[in-house]
Amino acid sequence: MNQYPCSTCGANVEFAPGTTVLKCPYCSAETPLVPTGARVREHSYAQFAGLRRVPVAELAAYTFTCRGCGAVTQSDKVSDRCQFCDAPLVADTTAGDMVAPEAVLPFSVDRPTVREALRAWAASRWFAPNSLRTVTEAESAHSTYLPHWTYDARTRSHYTGQRGEHYWDTETYTDNGETRTRQVRKTRWHSASGTVARDFDDVLIAGTGRVAPKHLSKLEPWPLPQAQPYRPEFLAGHETLRYEVEPEAGLETAKTRMATVIDRDCRDDIGGDEQRVSSVRTSYIDVTFKLMLLPVWLACYLHAGKTYQVMINGRTGAVAGERPYSAAKIAALSLAVAALIAAIVVAVMLSRQ
Ligand SMILES: [Zn+2]
Ligand SMILES: [Zn+2]
Repeated sequence: MNQYPCSTCGANVEFAPGTTVLKCPYCSAETPLVPTGARVREHSYAQFAGLRRVPVAELAAYTFTCRGCGAVTQSDKVSDRCQFCDAPLVADTTAGDMVAPEAVLPFSVDRPTVREALRAWAASRWFAPNSLRTVTEAESAHSTYLPHWTYDARTRSHYTGQRGEHYWDTETYTDNGETRTRQVRKTRWHSASGTVARDFDDVLIAGTGRVAPKHLSKLEPWPLPQAQPYRPEFLAGHETLRYEVEPEAGLETAKTRMATVIDRDCRDDIGGDEQRVSSVRTSYIDVTFKLMLLPVWLACYLHAGKTYQVMINGRTGAVAGERPYSAAKIAALSLAVAALIAAIVVAVMLSRQ
């Protein structure tokens, strides 16, 4: 377990978003993060797949002993806060059966910026109830690192299919007893086959199902090249979820993503005016992967007894989330539209008289 005492007052310091320092929440003293010289590395998937592992679902929680208050707590989060004294707790990921994080994209968006982003987001939602605009979601927002897998692979795909070429044909038809001709577009199909190759870099797959994937994908793109080699200091003062999606399952999802791109490559290769792809056989060479932590502010708000989740990209400030629709506003809009249609109908009828 890791905790970082303040050199001035001894309290536990936290990583300050947008900086390269650990900051003391009490005396504001700053401890710079000295570069370690470590580099982000991709791991060979083949080597990893040969290792025996305990399924993630069966792994025990982390045990934290808080050096602030001495409390011993258990958590399945990689980093959290002491539930008694609020001191940051960071698990030691080098020991144990889980895949250790290799890279982290540190938070750069801080709480005041989150507040602004949420305000702008709520204001831009016309259908949202007015109550939402006054909710102070930012106060309840948690800075949370979400685990993601990234996969690299070189692929070669052999495909079979057909290339369609358009041509024009003259057709004869009768119109009121008169024989006429017209031009009709048709497609001639030729069988096609070939091989396409593509290198994939950092195909990103969420490692947790606790956050709705459809919202998570709206936070993209992530500035992945800015990721830093993992170091536990970046997690101090922020929550970090443990991955639940096994690397194997992540790879299957990644292959589905790659298949969409490969299908497009096959169609480009087939050429012509239309394409049919009937089979694709892909080999994956040099598959590598790594565990990456991405920064997300998670906020939720309560409206009419229901909880809604909002997320803010901790790097770009992009906001995604669910929102309630105001029944009153929608009803008002429907009435306005109905009135407008009625007005148009009346206007048209009058103009015809
Ligand atoms: Zn201090
Ligand atoms: Zn404590």
